Amino acid sequence: MKKIFFIFFILVSFIYFGNYYVINYYIQPGDTLYMLSKKFSLSPSTILDWNDIEPYNLKIGQVLKIPQPEGILYEVKQGDTLYDISLRFFTTIEVIKSANNLSNNYIYVGQKLFVPTSRIGLAFNVYDKDFIWPVFGRLTSTYGWREHPIYHKMSFHTGVDLAAPEGTPIFSATEGVVELAGQYGGYGLAVIVDYGKYEIVYGHMSKVCVYKGQTLSKGELIGRVGSTGVSTGPHLHFEVRINGNHTNPVAFLPSYNRMYVLKSDNIYVGGE
Ligand SMILES: [Zn+2]
Repeated sequence: MKKIFFIFFILVSFIYFGNYYVINYYIQPGDTLYMLSKKFSLSPSTILDWNDIEPYNLKIGQVLKIPQPEGILYEVKQGDTLYDISLRFFTTIEVIKSANNLSNNYIYVGQKLFVPTSRIGLAFNVYDKDFIWPVFGRLTSTYGWREHPIYHKMSFHTGVDLAAPEGTPIFSATEGVVELAGQYGGYGLAVIVDYGKYEIVYGHMSKVCVYKGQTLSKGELIGRVGSTGVSTGPHLHFEVRINGNHTNPVAFLPSYNRMYVLKSDNIYVGGE
């Protein structure tokens, strides 16, 4: 009788980092992003954020990094404090410290901090408006006529600009279906979300982590702040269109004087 030799392929390996670990998964024939997101119980956005892959063109044998639990990495920039970073994730310092086994508030440039998705807050105020703020940033340009920052001519600004450091996460302000994910003229890397009678436009991103056709829930990660397209520095251009006509997005966003709540336990955190 013939001896049967089994060859074991290593399909996954694990790397542990404190309170989370990263699975290295080798893409198998037939895998799709959607199937993998179901298999590992995370959003396709998280897989796209952690990996440089084409959503509709997965390469067999390519390694995918899959964080467990689901979460987002943030690389510390010059001048960042733990408090700043906690705001950008609409969460608290304590959440970040415990997720990264930090015993004090010391962080260093280039350090990669992990923020579990379950602890990322949804909005400044989920109660008073339909939308949530997609980015914690500074409102640097409002909707309406202005002198264009690059062309120095009067022009109509069709959205609001929220300045934030490159790499700041952008969360979907509404639910909806992704209509465009990629280059979009002067908007640079952009995402357009179809939300009933609304179209929500996110521009100048450094990374897009959704794909065309993806169904989004409110607060889901859609990409990172950047300065692509016609832009003078890292910011999110946030635009709302109704039946193709732009309108003032601030009307749909929670008021400035209310802060955010944590998604998991609805703690009011307070702020400006
Ligand atoms: Zn703008």
